[in-house]
Amino acid sequence: MAKSKEEHCSFCGRPKSETDLLVTGLEAQICNYCIEQAKTILDEELRAKHKELKIDHTLLKPAEIKAFLDQYVIGQEDAKKVLSVAVYNHYKRIGQRSDENDVEIEKSNIILVGDTGTGKTLLAQTIARMLHVPFAIADATVLTEAGYVGEDVESILTRLLQAADYDVKAAEKGIIFIDEIDKIARKSDNPSITRDVSGEGVQQALLKLLEGSVINVPPQGGRKHPEQKMIQVNTRNILFISGGAFQGIERIIAARLRTNVVGYSFAGHKEEGIDMNNLLQYISPADLKKYGLIPEIVGRLPILTYLNPLDKEALKRILTEPKNALVKQFTKLFEMDGIQLVFDDAVLDFVVEKSIEFKLGARGLRSILEAILMDAMFELPSKKQTKKWRVTLKYAKEKLEKSNLSKLKAAV
Ligand code: ADP
Repeated sequence: MAKSKEEHCSFCGRPKSETDLLVTGLEAQICNYCIEQAKTILDEELRAKHKELKIDHTLLKPAEIKAFLDQYVIGQEDAKKVLSVAVYNHYKRIGQRSDENDVEIEKSNIILVGDTGTGKTLLAQTIARMLHVPFAIADATVLTEAGYVGEDVESILTRLLQAADYDVKAAEKGIIFIDEIDKIARKSDNPSITRDVSGEGVQQALLKLLEGSVINVPPQGGRKHPEQKMIQVNTRNILFISGGAFQGIERIIAARLRTNVVGYSFAGHKEEGIDMNNLLQYISPADLKKYGLIPEIVGRLPILTYLNPLDKEALKRILTEPKNALVKQFTKLFEMDGIQLVFDDAVLDFVVEKSIEFKLGARGLRSILEAILMDAMFELPSKKQTKKWRVTLKYAKEKLEKSNLSKLKAAV
C-alpha cells in the first residue's frame, strides 16, 4: 500500500505529506515541527546553563573590556587600562574553583581618585553594564556608624539587592560604587586623638563589607522597618569600586615626591620627568593614608588609579563622541519629531566654554544644552512645517542668556 510506504517523522509520527520538511538520518526522520520544538528545548536548556556560568562565558579579555569602555568614556586611558585588568582578574577569581589549587587570588577592589565630574561613576557604571551584573551606587557621606543618625553601611547592600531584584546569588556577584570615599577620611593622620564618629567609625564599618563577610541586610533598608527579616549576603565576590576627589591631596603627593626626589626645583612645570600640572598620576597608597583613610581600608582597595581633569578638548569630545553622547541624544529626540537638528561647530565650543566658566565640568554640558534647546523643544513639535533646526552661535547665546542657568554664574 502506498500509504504505509510514506515516510513518517520518527518523533511525532506525522506523515511526510503533512510536513514542510522531513530530514532523514541514518535510522530516523525528523519533521520541521519537531526540529522547531527541539530547538526551543535546546535554547531553554542552554539559557539555563549559561545563566549559571554567565560570568565564565562572558569573560572578556582586558583589551576587550577597555574597548567597551572607550565607547562611553573619553580619555582617562590609565584608569581604563587599570580597571580593565582589575575587572578581568576579579571575574577570573570568581570563576576559580576552590579545589583547583591552593593559590587564593585576592579580591581586587578599586579606588579611583579624580575631580568630581571626570567620569568615576561613569566608569563603574559602564563596567556593570558590560558585565550585566547588578550595580548600586552608594554615597559615603550619608553613612554613619551603627547607632548614629544616617544610614548604616548595610544599606549599601540593600541597594544592590534591589538592583538585583532580590536575587541574592546575582547580587553577590555585583558591583558597588562607593562615591565620595574621601569624605569619610579621618580629620588627621594621627589616629584617634578624639573619637571621630563621621570618619574612622564608618571606615571600620565599611571594612567588614570590603574584606568579604556574610552580612545581615535589611531588605527594605533603613531602621524604619524593625520587623523586617534580614537577608544574608556574602560580600566575598562583590567588586567594590570607590571614588573620591580627595581635594588637596596634591599637596601630600608633592611633599612625598619632594622628599623622594632629591635636588630638583619645584617651581618648574616638568622637571626630572615629573609633570607638576597633574600630580594625581603619581598617587600612592601612602598618600591616601596620609589623607586620612585608615591603613586597613587602603589595604582592602589595592587597585589605585587616577582620573585626569577634563580639558576643553575632552569636554568637546564628550559632547559628540561617546555612544550616547549628548549631541547624539538630542539629535535623536528631534528626529522623533521628524526634525533634523544641526549644531554649528561654534555652538559646541560655546557650550564647553560656558561649562568651564560656570565650573560645572562635564556635568554642566547637559544643563547648558538643555537651556539652549528648551524653547525649540517646547515649540517645534507643534510646528509641522519645520523639518530642520539649525542652532547658531547667536541663537545659543541668546537662549542661554535668558535661561536660569546664566544665574548660576553668579552663584559659583
Ligand atoms: P564623577 O563620578 O567623577 O563625579 P561622573 O562619572 O558622574 O563623574 O560624570 C558626570 C557626567 O559627566 C557623566 O554622566 C558623563 O555624562 C560625563 N562625563 C564625565 N567624564 C566623562 C568622560 N571621561 N567621558 C565621557 N563622559 C564623561
